[in-house]
Amino acid sequence: MSIAENIAAIRTRIDAAARETGRTAADITLVGASKMNDAAACREAIAAGIDVLGENRVQEMTQKLSENAYEGAPLHFIGHLQRNKVKQVVGKVDLIESVGSAELLQEIEKVAAKLDIVQDILLEVNIGGEEAKSGFAPEALADAAALAKTLPHIRVRGLMAIPPVETEPHGNLPYFAKVQSLFVDISAKMYDNEWEYISMGMSGDFEDAIRAGSNMVRVGTAIFGARNYTK
Ligand SMILES: *Cc1c(COP(=O)(O)O)cnc(C)c1O
Repeated sequence: MSIAENIAAIRTRIDAAARETGRTAADITLVGASKMNDAAACREAIAAGIDVLGENRVQEMTQKLSENAYEGAPLHFIGHLQRNKVKQVVGKVDLIESVGSAELLQEIEKVAAKLDIVQDILLEVNIGGEEAKSGFAPEALADAAALAKTLPHIRVRGLMAIPPVETEPHGNLPYFAKVQSLFVDISAKMYDNEWEYISMGMSGDFEDAIRAGSNMVRVGTAIFGARNYTK
């Protein structure tokens, strides 16, 4: 199957899941998680109508930016971001989805202020409370949202979450539901209901994420094929 065929098949599945909640595929942003796929693969996805491309690694993204890999589509940063690499990301991407600490918020503010821009971000929530994962603890999310509101060069557009690896079918539905409820609650109480994006769902679970209210899914393997980690 080609990248274009994969994207078409995923859109059909997205549409079916969205319709269960009174929406359609048009309401769901499909982010192609293009890590470890080259510029040609990115261009193929853009030609096939992907909404957004998402990158995980700063170095790889910088390289692919220099090859104009993302021309014609918005770009998101979706990976773990180290403070010392913030400069290479702020102003280069339309949305940083993975902002999971107060330190990172402060650093993005500093760099965005220097550039005199407002950087759109999502707050990442560590919804499974996993030691190895980044993101704000659910209990810390309201404070993080409050802090972000005080930073004039940052605009929070919503939440992103990566739940634990599923151990049974539909095992992540409760996590997705929890993210959805945090989203509704904090957006209403602190952001005049202006939050727009709830980014959750990957190749293995995007339909459940959509059923639980996601409107932005990040899909890699199901679009680009299995990643080759031995390269
Ligand atoms: C790689 C990645 C994805 C996509 O994962 P697949 O299982 O390949 O669809 C989504 N989100 C993030 C943050 C990723 O790093």
